[in-house]
Amino acid sequence: MNGESMEKVIQHILSKEMKDVLMVQTSALKAIHDYMWKHEILQLMPVMLSSVTDPLSHSVYDSSITYAGQKLELTKSMILHKQMSMMRGDLKGIYIISPNIRLEKEHLGETGRHLLEFSQVDIELRDAKYKDFMGFTEGLYSYIFKFVKKKCKEELASLERKIKVPKKPFKIYESAMELKVEYGSSFDLELSKKEKDLFWVMDHYREFYDREDPVTKRHVNYDLVYPEGFGEALSGGERETDYATIIRKMGERKTDLEKYKSYIEISKRGLLKPTAGGGFGVERLVRFLTGRKHIRDISLFPRVPGEEIVL
Ligand code: AMP
Ligand code: MG
Repeated sequence: MNGESMEKVIQHILSKEMKDVLMVQTSALKAIHDYMWKHEILQLMPVMLSSVTDPLSHSVYDSSITYAGQKLELTKSMILHKQMSMMRGDLKGIYIISPNIRLEKEHLGETGRHLLEFSQVDIELRDAKYKDFMGFTEGLYSYIFKFVKKKCKEELASLERKIKVPKKPFKIYESAMELKVEYGSSFDLELSKKEKDLFWVMDHYREFYDREDPVTKRHVNYDLVYPEGFGEALSGGERETDYATIIRKMGERKTDLEKYKSYIEISKRGLLKPTAGGGFGVERLVRFLTGRKHIRDISLFPRVPGEEIVL
């Protein structure tokens, strides 16, 4: 660390617009909690250390640690724990505001959307189909936008940001697979630049836990994408519950079965219940609501891939 980088960090913490950003963030979080309360969705506390975590569908640097001889993973997302909490069967749904550690490759620092450490609002709904979760999320986003627009008039004016409450239902693109052929691998970003409102993209080839329809072979999952070039907001899907299917999909993805043995055991016992869910990053939401260029601009202590962490 040199004097110049320390100076930059101090100026960042003291920056004029940070208070407005924090007010928008706090209002958005209040709206999220209120919406969950209204829908009787219960909040879990996050876990940060576990024997299993999200395998993710892209590669990151290893962040495992050893404690008392046991290798533990730092949480990449709480997807597997969400599924395991829902085996109770008496919860209508759950949510967690969960710190995620993903040691992303350095080049992602330039996207403006990636941090090494961020907070995910992770939701799972019992007996839900994709349409139920999408409807629930559209309601949630409309509620957040309305609330922030009403409560943060002054802050939004000084940030020079106008919030438009999204009209429901959101537009749906049915096939990520086809979009990839037409627009290339960053199809969501290309569409995000063109679209004026939030929209969905369905049917992504992803991790073993997203359900695949055995008849149509479609991946019953979705991404929600912000307009104006802000890119991905949320990912989720209906979940796979069948042991044999999970094992087959793990095989196709070359998953290390030994690493996931506790999760596999739960599925083998038939304890996984049909659910659908998804998760969105708090920082990406706040970046969109405040219209800032880089996710760094809305984080008081940003951990940007490839950058030194001074404080
Ligand atoms: P994923 O399951 O990888 O799609 O992550 C769920 C959500 O978390 C994404 O839709 C983003 O909103 C957010 N997210 C994922 N990775 C990052 C990151 N490196 N930095 C900030 N937010 C992220
Ligand atoms: Mg995603």
